[in-house]
Amino acid sequence: MSELPLPPATRTLGDSGIAVSPIAWGMWRLAENGRTAGDAAKLVHAALDAGINFLDTADIYGFDGTAGFGDAEQLLGEVLAAEPALRQRMVLATKGGIMPPLPYDQSAQYLQSAIDKSLSRLKVDSVDLWQVHRPDILAHPQEVARVLDDAVAAGKIRTLGVSNFTMPQIAALNQFLGHKLVATQPEISPLRIDCFENGELDQAMMLGLTPLAWSPLGGGRLTSPETARDEAVAAELDRFAVQHGISRSVAAYSWLMAHPAGIIPIIGSQQAERIAEGAAAAQVRWNRQDWYAVLVAARGVPLP
Ligand code: NAP
Repeated sequence: MSELPLPPATRTLGDSGIAVSPIAWGMWRLAENGRTAGDAAKLVHAALDAGINFLDTADIYGFDGTAGFGDAEQLLGEVLAAEPALRQRMVLATKGGIMPPLPYDQSAQYLQSAIDKSLSRLKVDSVDLWQVHRPDILAHPQEVARVLDDAVAAGKIRTLGVSNFTMPQIAALNQFLGHKLVATQPEISPLRIDCFENGELDQAMMLGLTPLAWSPLGGGRLTSPETARDEAVAAELDRFAVQHGISRSVAAYSWLMAHPAGIIPIIGSQQAERIAEGAAAAQVRWNRQDWYAVLVAARGVPLP
């Protein structure tokens, strides 16, 4: 049985030299359920204390369709204002470029102001990674690149990434950037396996992009399967999980982390114990047979 390597204790964000934990924590759902800055601080501490130093947010997190734009960044900003030393312990990632009620806006004017407003809500001088959240089909990549390069030159952003970009969109933006992309953030989970075979992860490896996996549990669907396919994938993960004395979610995170592109799953839970538990995924080792069994369950058809 061919063993796959364990993830390293830290990964580097692209070629930036910025060291991040091999698993991240995300704040999409932070501003839900009336969470206060005190509640948010407990979650930030839970992640950092578990060795998770890579924190992902976005300006739109908190938006419920009518209000709440910026609320997740605002909460984290209050946490950082109350305890400024926390900033040094984290690699802080945010995103922008989705502007309700418009679908997407990456005009120069909008992007510049979106970056400034994120910094102001987060109460920081700079972020470590700024990601274009979703591509704006109406923005020329050369114009987007110019704004992003200027923001890096101004010290507002240390590194750049994208999310939900197609491969040609990544290639086009990267072509025009002086400060090349270091990260890409597609949806990847044992229920969302497109990128394993469509070339996205191969492109990431070729360009040296660190892939961050959003919704690594399928937005929670892996823990509450809804379809026969969900059940089949969960059953394969459980088979492995039982053998290794871990939970299904830790099996899912570690399954993603075993890929050679160095996928960093973004834990979506807003429960301290579940965030801490997720960090254990870095200690879990897969072999080829078990890894492919999960993939085949997700494909629903055998590999050729
Ligand atoms: P996920 O891990 O797939 O799902 C998390 C959800 O599953 C939470 O509601 C969580 O509830 C629930 N859950 C149920 N049982 C769980 C268990 N045993 N362990 C952990 N969670 C369990 O992740 P996600 O929240 O959908 O996304 C994760 C992160 O990805 C986000 O925070 C964000 O940073 C990023 N994201 C990015 C994009 C993008 O377009 N770039 C889109 C979506 C998400 P509890 O909180 O109650 O544990």
